[in-house]
Amino acid sequence: MTLHQNLIAGEWVGGDGVANINPSDTNDVIGEYARASAEDAKAAIAAAKAAFPAWSRSGILERHAILRKTADEILARKDELGRLLSREEGKTLAEGIGETVRAGQIFDFFAGEALRLAGEVIPSVRPNIGVEITREPVGVVGIITPWNFPIAIPAWKIAPALCYGNTIVFKPAELVPGCSWAIVDILVRAGLPKGVLNLVMGKGSVVGQTMLDSPDVQAITFTGSTGTGKRVALASVEHNRKYQLEMGGKNPFVVLDDADLNVAVEAAVNSAFFSTGQRCTASSRVIVTEGIHDRFVQAMGERMKGLVIDDALKAGTHIGPVVDQSQLNQDTDYIAIGKQEGAKLAFGGELLKRDTPGFYLQPALFTEATNQMRISQEEIFGPVASVIRVKDYDEALAVANDTPFGLSSGIATTSLKHATHFKRNAEAGMVMVNLPTAGVDFHVPFGGRKGSSHGSREQGRYAAEFYTTVKTAYTLA
Ligand code: NDP
Repeated sequence: MTLHQNLIAGEWVGGDGVANINPSDTNDVIGEYARASAEDAKAAIAAAKAAFPAWSRSGILERHAILRKTADEILARKDELGRLLSREEGKTLAEGIGETVRAGQIFDFFAGEALRLAGEVIPSVRPNIGVEITREPVGVVGIITPWNFPIAIPAWKIAPALCYGNTIVFKPAELVPGCSWAIVDILVRAGLPKGVLNLVMGKGSVVGQTMLDSPDVQAITFTGSTGTGKRVALASVEHNRKYQLEMGGKNPFVVLDDADLNVAVEAAVNSAFFSTGQRCTASSRVIVTEGIHDRFVQAMGERMKGLVIDDALKAGTHIGPVVDQSQLNQDTDYIAIGKQEGAKLAFGGELLKRDTPGFYLQPALFTEATNQMRISQEEIFGPVASVIRVKDYDEALAVANDTPFGLSSGIATTSLKHATHFKRNAEAGMVMVNLPTAGVDFHVPFGGRKGSSHGSREQGRYAAEFYTTVKTAYTLA
């Protein structure tokens, strides 16, 4: 089996491989991927540091061309890369291809941004002095990504880092190295100079920790769990470096009495269960006012009966497997916790057998849940949701905001008054009206507040805030 190696200082290196396993069929080994050591990570950081002076001064047309070529190749290979994504992560083929297209669009967007770098020239408050405000790259950026969006998250961190002239040490989640390896390979062939982008696949506790401990990494952008995010924060404070965290969520989806029932059910099912509930923007708390509660729960049950849970690559599958055994254990543990806490398991929650050995779980819906239960407060990260019954809009909003997290928040309503009030008062970085809590555009800011995020927003033009540092220059005329 081909060994996919790490990329350090422009060379493909590393011998020791780890098998990348298909969660829809654990007999299917996708490939072998090198496992970097701490020494490899140090060499990658040194290579990125050495490459920074030249790349930070590279022409915008060179950056544009490399990002553009990368976008073109990703889009041209969307079916093949989407298939690889679904095979290694377990989301459906349609979702895998959709995510791949999005990665291509992100590279395309930042190819354009490279040509639009600009500053400001403003008069000084003192006579005969000019003031220029410019943005400069930060330096060596450490990129640490999770397993649940194997191509989109690497794309939305790598593309702006390169666009603004930074060099990179990139560590993808060990569980899903395939798409990361593929986009690094594409970037290298698109003409990226040696050392500008270094790929170090391997364990977070080894490779990631080496990045956190290095004084030569000037910025770290991280997406993953709250626990690891805190480690990134503490280590970054120690080194006085910039850091950006995207972490967990416990996103509420509110359904009001005046909601269109079909719109509400479709958005709730999508939010809670699509991509196997493994999205940081997924909703696992459905907060429903009492006038529509029973009709809503019944309609959810009917809709859930129609969901096909099977091999991610099979035509007709709506929901693929859970990503691995340990995540499946976490999901079933929370189903048991929900029952112990007194919530009623109204639908699903059973382990499923399919033609191939995989981590198949019937999506689960609890009713009679309260917001104080652990299933309503802690991130499950699987296809498990609970319905919380409330009296009216005011209580719904209070319950929606009663969480340590603040990534995404949704509402189903036909009332302009309530939609407007919710947009203004939901304590979240993203608010959705009559739409699922998950599913965002690639050209606008992404991120949350409270315990979900730290630092400036990702994606769109707001990404410049993290990947650049501002310089103010004064000149005597
Ligand atoms: P983890 O935090 O375990 O892992 C995220 C990344 O951090 C992985 O690459 C991991 O490496 C790495 N890592 C682990 N330990 C360290 C360390 N000591 N130092 C540096 N890096 C380390 O999260 P998961 O990958 O398990 O992702 C699931 C979690 O991420 C969920 O809780 C979810 O809420 C959250 N998430 C949030 C998103 C958001 O945008 N808000 C988006 C996606 C996920 P490795 O796994 O290879 O060991």
